[in-house]
Amino acid sequence: MNKLSTTDIQHYINGRVVASTSGRQQDVFNPATGAVTGRVALASEQEVQAAVAAAQAAAPAWAETAPLKRARILFKFKDLLDKHHDDLAAAITREHGKVFSDARGEVTRGIEVVEFACGIPQLMKTQFTDNIGGGIDNWQLRQPLGVTAGITPFNFPFMVPMWMAPMAIATGNTFILKPSERDPSPSLMVADLFKQAGLPDGVFNVVQGDKVAVDTLLHHPDVKAVSFVGSTPIAEYIYTEGAKRKGAYPLRVQALGGAKNHLVVMPDADLDQAVDALIGAAYGSAGERCMAISVAVAVGSVADKLIEALIPRVKSLVVKNGMEADAEMGPVVSAPHKAKIEGYIEQGVQAGAKLLVDGRSFTVPGHEQGYFLGGSLFDQVTPDMTIYKEEIFGPVLCVVRVPDFAAAVELINNHEYGNGVSLFTSDGHTAREFSRRIEVGMVGINVPIPVPMAWHSFGGWKRSLFGDTHAYGEEGIRFYTRYKSVMQRWPDSIVKGAEFTMPVAK
Ligand code: NAD
Repeated sequence: MNKLSTTDIQHYINGRVVASTSGRQQDVFNPATGAVTGRVALASEQEVQAAVAAAQAAAPAWAETAPLKRARILFKFKDLLDKHHDDLAAAITREHGKVFSDARGEVTRGIEVVEFACGIPQLMKTQFTDNIGGGIDNWQLRQPLGVTAGITPFNFPFMVPMWMAPMAIATGNTFILKPSERDPSPSLMVADLFKQAGLPDGVFNVVQGDKVAVDTLLHHPDVKAVSFVGSTPIAEYIYTEGAKRKGAYPLRVQALGGAKNHLVVMPDADLDQAVDALIGAAYGSAGERCMAISVAVAVGSVADKLIEALIPRVKSLVVKNGMEADAEMGPVVSAPHKAKIEGYIEQGVQAGAKLLVDGRSFTVPGHEQGYFLGGSLFDQVTPDMTIYKEEIFGPVLCVVRVPDFAAAVELINNHEYGNGVSLFTSDGHTAREFSRRIEVGMVGINVPIPVPMAWHSFGGWKRSLFGDTHAYGEEGIRFYTRYKSVMQRWPDSIVKGAEFTMPVAK
């Protein structure tokens, strides 16, 4: 990989690193130490416009490039990602804080979408009907949109951009990534590897920035689609702003938002398995996953046993610098985010929930300036409490007790979020009923984090997703292409004379 600066983090436009002239920058921190590791540029409107111009200029030739040739570049890209797997993971841990093994997993899940996109010649195939009547054949085209953009969150600085860019590029679009300003380095590494793989200049671009960059992308008439992943208020903003776009091509938007994911433990569940699942899914990545489990729903008699088993596990979590081999949980992403999580914990206490394990005032020796929290565990949480209603996005697990299965389903269906959900049971009928009745986009049965594989699409329901299509998989192909139907016949089969009736099959 070319030597990219991790201290002076700039844009990547038209195949090269471009130094920002906006005069605006922001510090980037290592959450494990609290040290400033770099400065990231924050783009001006003009810089975003330059990226759109580069992507627009590259779009016609890339759209005309045969899908097989596009796939060959993606195969090389995937090979380079494999070679730099650990470099990417280390960059994620340095700026995000998650433990290195988890960062490696993130890279793997991103690479899987590239692998899926390598099949683009097959994925772009459409249907053909020979002779719909009167010597006419009918088929479809899936055509690229042109310039597309992706706006991504801090919590998966490699995987979420990979939900978008390989799909957009494979389908013949050009792409502009606006990564999170909190961990911007992996996106530049991706740009460099795309270039090494032979991707033409201008097909993949990165603009670093904040709201200015996002708003410029949203309102630029040459940007045809925006894919967003982040918190619900911003997702809703992106979706509603996008809908205001006037002109021949309304902006196509998919905006994935926040979450509050429940894991239901039935009395017939294997308790050890359920506890392992809860510990990993609630505290992995310090709870900063959109598919993290933040609510355990204890059904009936299981509650006391569950709490008893959880307490020692939460207390013994190995929390330290994510680069240390035995770390189970690293720091949270920033000092303000740490303070926000602590504020939620205080609110929970004030509201009357029972704080059984308090992860505040937690320090890691030698890393006193790092943004560490221990795991927190609440019991007796009720649906009216803020800690139940809102996404905390930290290592805090809330236990809600319900009398029976029907109450568990009702509780979850009443929540405004509907990203992921999980049920632990050994009963097939309960599992089937749950999958069918639950109003959530991704369901795990004895699977705590049901993130669909690259060839199944990812997306939540309710206020966890705004738009019609889910990310990657076949829905991703649909999002990044426009459907066209072609009917064709040749002069020999045309009957003479004008027809004034609605055409019907002859
Ligand atoms: P965020 O909404 O703060 O930021 C996401 C992106 O939006 C960033 O690129 C940021 O620069 C930009 N942004 C922030 N404020 C903006 C504004 N006012 N106007 C325009 N753009 C703005 O989210 P985050 O804190 O980076 O990420 C965590 C959130 O993302 C959580 O809510 C999490 O659940 C969610 N998330 C959802 C999914 C999913 O698939 N549903 C996946 C990952 C993360």
